[in-house]
Amino acid sequence: MGTIFSQIVDGDIPARIVYEDETTVAFLDANPLAPGHTLVIPKEEYEQLNDVPDDVASDLYAVIHELVPIVEDSVDADASTVAFNNGEAAGQEVPHVHCHIVPRFEGDGGGPIHAVAGDRPDLSDGELDEIAETIESRA
Ligand code: AMP
Repeated sequence: MGTIFSQIVDGDIPARIVYEDETTVAFLDANPLAPGHTLVIPKEEYEQLNDVPDDVASDLYAVIHELVPIVEDSVDADASTVAFNNGEAAGQEVPHVHCHIVPRFEGDGGGPIHAVAGDRPDLSDGELDEIAETIESRA
């Protein structure tokens, strides 16, 4: 049996599907952080972002790009937080890549994405240079 999201894709468990095409589906989160909280997933099961093939990733991003303003407008949101929990250590519970579109409202009491990580590291210029060089050399 696949992930709970694959079961939604297969129609085996119900969901409030708001968008569907050949490769991608979007549905309302069952435990929403805000009205309109929507999840966008590739229909095929990939655990993390780095597992998603290029063409599927392009399709996924195109749908996110299209849906964000629609979701915001549909619930009269002022903004949205759009994010992936990418891996268990980052809080991912369902091992099937999914993008959260969380509508945000002035004064909703939530925080920015900067609030999701733990204690900020105190990195020297040398350490920052080294990290940047490592990433750049692999990109
Ligand atoms: P994550 O922690 O990023 O893996 O988030 C998983 C999300 O899936 C949570 O926000 C859950 O509320 C949501 N979720 C779990 N099961 C369902 C379901 N059957 N239908 C819709 N959303 C679900």
